[in-house]
Amino acid sequence: MNEGFDRFAALSLITTHDDHNAFDAVVPPIVQTSLFTFATYDEMIAAYRGEIVRPVYSRGLNPTVRAFEEMLAKLEGAEDALGFASGMGAISATVLTFIKPGDRIVAVRNVYPDAYRLFGTILKRMQIDVTYVDGRDLAAVDKALPGAKLIYLESPTSWVMEAHDVGALAALAKRHGALSVIDNSWASPAFQRPLGLGVDLVLHSASKYLSGHSDVVAGVVAGPKQLVDRIRGESLPYLGAKLSPFDAWLLVRGMRTLTIRMKAHESSALEIARRLATLDIVATVNHPGLGNSLPPGLDGTSGLFSFSFREGIDIRAFCDHLKIFKLGVSWGGHESLIVPGEVVLAQKAMPNSAHEFGLDPRSVRLHIGLEGTEALWTDLQAAIDVATID
Ligand SMILES: *Cc1c(COP(=O)(O)O)cnc(C)c1O
Repeated sequence: MNEGFDRFAALSLITTHDDHNAFDAVVPPIVQTSLFTFATYDEMIAAYRGEIVRPVYSRGLNPTVRAFEEMLAKLEGAEDALGFASGMGAISATVLTFIKPGDRIVAVRNVYPDAYRLFGTILKRMQIDVTYVDGRDLAAVDKALPGAKLIYLESPTSWVMEAHDVGALAALAKRHGALSVIDNSWASPAFQRPLGLGVDLVLHSASKYLSGHSDVVAGVVAGPKQLVDRIRGESLPYLGAKLSPFDAWLLVRGMRTLTIRMKAHESSALEIARRLATLDIVATVNHPGLGNSLPPGLDGTSGLFSFSFREGIDIRAFCDHLKIFKLGVSWGGHESLIVPGEVVLAQKAMPNSAHEFGLDPRSVRLHIGLEGTEALWTDLQAAIDVATID
């Protein structure tokens, strides 16, 4: 068991709330209000002058959102954190804070498709060039970095699950004077704490494992106060993707069980990935835990991976015969999900990273939920039997 894990278990028990206003409730209240009133003119002007720090309007400071931000900052070992209305809200505000027209970004290939589309649309219109590299190839990254303003990381990457030596990539970024940002949604702070590996800023789609219950769309970025303050001051108020109090409250609730959920996702997914790898009908399994060892700094694996079928399986029949696995995007909740590669390739949205990076049409992505390994394996086996073409 790694050190981060034990620290985490203790943290998940913390109740963060303002005792004075919460009637000693064990769960912090939802401060569901758009604005906060002042008793006097003097109090109001002091707040506007910045002489006192207190909530004014919920697009700025909201106590429930702040409770979530403080909890996430502790989990990531960060000085500060900032919540967003979605993971994409966190990604766009973070990137737009630190780049300007004419700058260049280096990104690992196979990043989350909508991050890729942000780079290929809005950033492109700002004359910002993005160079994609194989994040496992440190020499290629070293060669791409000179002159780059920012390196955008995700490890493991979406769909194909390429896992990187995050500490080595952060060191390269430092050497070349590039700001490093990583999407840590897959591993969560239970299994990977990038700031400790030298990355400048870590962000999440909190819609995934941080929530854990498929009932929230949210995002967060964490790092040194000086960098988080710039996002808080220069981008979030104007782009406006502020996290809502109720969603923050659901996140605080969900994060208390992150440790045990992640352990359950890890053991079920690893076992199912290992069993799939033994089947003749399966060509490749993309799961970082199947190799000899995990990259340094990655202390465990989550429930999301993909695999490819050889010829001889009707993938549509396979999907339609699954009973526990549901066809659906997103992941990180209690439920098991499947997304077929062919469906992703059929997507109309442009630019389409799936085409760009040669996504295998015979691959499917699984999210292994909390229903239990044997029930899920039985479901997969039964669907494979029905879908096998003799
Ligand atoms: C879902 C996802 C995002 C986007 O998050 P939203 O909360 O849907 O905006 C970003 N990165 C990864 C890896 C994701 O899976």
